Amino acid sequence: MNEDKVKEMAKLLLSGAIMLAEQCPVCGAPLFRLKDNTIKCPSCGYTKTEKKEIKPKNTIGTEKEILAKKLELLLQSLEKSQDVNEIRTILEAIRIIHELIKET
Ligand SMILES: [Zn+2]
Repeated sequence: MNEDKVKEMAKLLLSGAIMLAEQCPVCGAPLFRLKDNTIKCPSCGYTKTEKKEIKPKNTIGTEKEILAKKLELLLQSLEKSQDVNEIRTILEAIRIIHELIKET
């Protein structure tokens, strides 16, 4: 990486751009997201605008992830539960989650 590119990256960061984990499909350099949501490669000048795909990390999991977590909790309660009605309720919930996971 030459000095110009490093300078360009520094300039982007100073302007409030964020370095992404994503790499430039053209040259493989790390991509930056500018304040206006434009994705820019400081190395080769590749740009793309996308708003839908940008998700802030660690906010909400995918539907499947959430279901899988709930399933885990349900299985834990099932293991502890000794109440027939409660077990029945838990099993029903597990069955529904299984169906939902299959559908997604
Ligand atoms: Zn590039």
